Amino acid sequence: MYWDKEIETIDRPALEALQHKRLKTTLQQARKSLHYDRIFKEVGMDPDAVKTVEDLEKLPMTTKEDLRDHWPYGFLAASRDDLVRMHSSSGTTGQTTIVFHTANDIDQWASIVARSMYMTGMRKSDVFQNMMTYGLFTGGLGFHYGAERIGALTIPAGAGNSKRQIQLMRDFETTTIHIIPSYALHLTHVFEELAVDPRRDTKLKRAFIGAEPHSEKMRKKLEDFYGFKSFNSYGLSEMCGPGVAFECPAQNGLHIWEDHFLVEMIDPQTLKPVPDGEEGELVLTTLVRDGMPILRYRTKDLTRIIPGPCECGRTHRRIERIKGRTDDMMIIKGVNIFPIQIERKLMGIPGVGNNFLIVLERVDFTDLMTVKVEVQREYFMGDLRQLEALRRRIVEELKSDILITPKVDLVEPDSLPVSEGKAKRVLDNRKD
Ligand SMILES: [Zn+2]
Repeated sequence: MYWDKEIETIDRPALEALQHKRLKTTLQQARKSLHYDRIFKEVGMDPDAVKTVEDLEKLPMTTKEDLRDHWPYGFLAASRDDLVRMHSSSGTTGQTTIVFHTANDIDQWASIVARSMYMTGMRKSDVFQNMMTYGLFTGGLGFHYGAERIGALTIPAGAGNSKRQIQLMRDFETTTIHIIPSYALHLTHVFEELAVDPRRDTKLKRAFIGAEPHSEKMRKKLEDFYGFKSFNSYGLSEMCGPGVAFECPAQNGLHIWEDHFLVEMIDPQTLKPVPDGEEGELVLTTLVRDGMPILRYRTKDLTRIIPGPCECGRTHRRIERIKGRTDDMMIIKGVNIFPIQIERKLMGIPGVGNNFLIVLERVDFTDLMTVKVEVQREYFMGDLRQLEALRRRIVEELKSDILITPKVDLVEPDSLPVSEGKAKRVLDNRKD
């Protein structure tokens, strides 16, 4: 059941000793980059003299802006001859950032992706269809290398081309897929259109879903339709890509691989640490990377550490599914709202379809929020009072959670734009 039992069930003191040793190596390596050499001098830190992990707190945190400001080689800590690959962030918000990898970095990355997949039960007898964008985005090649490391037949299907995806699944008896949740939901339409029932007509048994925040209700909806078990995947290109944290069969939080990453949880406003159990922003330090070590990186992802041991026996701490990025937070009439709150409510209402879009406007200095929701086609036929009743119900349910009253527009299935990559949930038309 373990890919690497010794490391996955390592006791805390041994894990901390390992982290400390790796941190020292990481700091020495980081000093070879222009950026960290300057930072170490500024704060008067000698990487060789670092005694404890706590010493790290003397260092300022690294932000996405730092990475951008040092484009393209300011964080590079290895010789350019030793690099074998580059990736970039998907550029969800603003300009992209670049990360370089040596052969060893790629090897380390593949090992934690393989560890993660193996944890969910995937074996070499499985057939893995990777429905993520290949290229600079890490979701394609990251999973690809992990699956090959396990020895599973890997189909690099890439994103999109829905009918062909279904054909591949059927012809090659795919058991495991990697897919973006909003796209998985969209694909249910295509299955229905082709009269293919994934439970009856495919061999699917597990899915890895990630790259965008999604709710537990969304997971249940996907599991019900496809008949697979779905596992949450978390990663970011600055740390490597997928494989940073992954759900185990207990499906209750994601084990963050602490032999590869040093975890801090902070209050995003005060930057002070928050205790296990409390929500904060995840801050990560790479522990095994040569090409481009990154220290105390502010991920902008909001989550919390789930206290206590996991029933699966792994000792690496768990993070809760990502609530959202600090960047995703909408402030409407002074209330903080995350798109995932809207999703969670919508997915629990019968009649609601597979897609929605939040539109923000400012009229006469007042914020207006409109939620456009796709609903099942039958609501647009015959008695329109049913449609109005559904609309009112959605308004009430949303209001109960987000505390403001949104305008709700109901639209026909497939009328909102579908993305093959990360779903765009918010259209902010407010002008300051
Ligand atoms: Zn577990």
